[in-house]
Amino acid sequence: MTNIFEEKKRKQEAINSAMSKIKHVIAVASGKGGVGKSTVAANLALSLAKKGYRVGLADADIYGPSIPTLFNIENEQVMAAEIDGKQLMLPFEKFGIKLMSVGFFVDKERPMLWRGPMAANTLTQMLTETHWGELDFMILDMPPGTGDIQLTLVQQFSVSGALFVCTPQQLAVADVRRAVNMFKNDQIAIPVLGLVENMAYFTPKELPNNKYYIFGKGGTEALAKELDVELISQIPISLDISETNDSGNPISLDFSSPEAESFMHLADIVIEKTNIK
Ligand code: ADP
Repeated sequence: MTNIFEEKKRKQEAINSAMSKIKHVIAVASGKGGVGKSTVAANLALSLAKKGYRVGLADADIYGPSIPTLFNIENEQVMAAEIDGKQLMLPFEKFGIKLMSVGFFVDKERPMLWRGPMAANTLTQMLTETHWGELDFMILDMPPGTGDIQLTLVQQFSVSGALFVCTPQQLAVADVRRAVNMFKNDQIAIPVLGLVENMAYFTPKELPNNKYYIFGKGGTEALAKELDVELISQIPISLDISETNDSGNPISLDFSSPEAESFMHLADIVIEKTNIK
């Protein structure tokens, strides 16, 4: 009979060795889906790369993997190669970052029916069996919510810090409270880098200095205070973000857009908080 403690230890050692060339894993989490978690993860990854860091973006959102769409690689095939005697998957390289997504391993037509341990195992395998090489940052696009899968991921991958994406609508705010508390739990104790409020305001192109808080103002700020975390970034709702997402050319590729500036600012904060040189 296999000793489960031995097996767990072996598994953790394999994970540690696979991740040993990655300086910081930053989890991008959310209480629920559809709040713009992948948008933030993708644009943060691109902004960090623009600053010269070596970046990987791992899409672990089993419920709605959107990285293949955001980077227009949906119809690509995952290739493998033998590296140091091991068969490893090769990440896609696009716009200066390395990409891998659970979306390549699930059937789009069918809803995800994996139960917790099976999903966690698949994600662990995807992360550890990809040839990431040396990275300064791995941005981990987490599955939304606060279940066992999320817990397993953050515990196994020694996450340096977590960002929480929420929107000003009340429901998302209530969900994020649960998610932040999961990370802050004594047994998990992952540093919470802060809240990112997505779709926070609207700025019409012809009035670039105006901010209209169409979904309400101040809710996320109050929540951040209550949870004792920082509200580190507010991203506008913008047709350009949505259109560039759909076309597979995330907004941060356009250096001059004000939205790209918001993500660049977020990258600066992540760099500062992880104290990376
Ligand atoms: P999640 O990863 O939380 O499920 P996504 O990043 O996939 O969310 O975004 C959900 C939808 O909202 C997508 O269609 C995306 O293009 C759109 N979206 C996200 N952020 C914004 C924004 N700031 N402005 C406009 N549309 C956005």
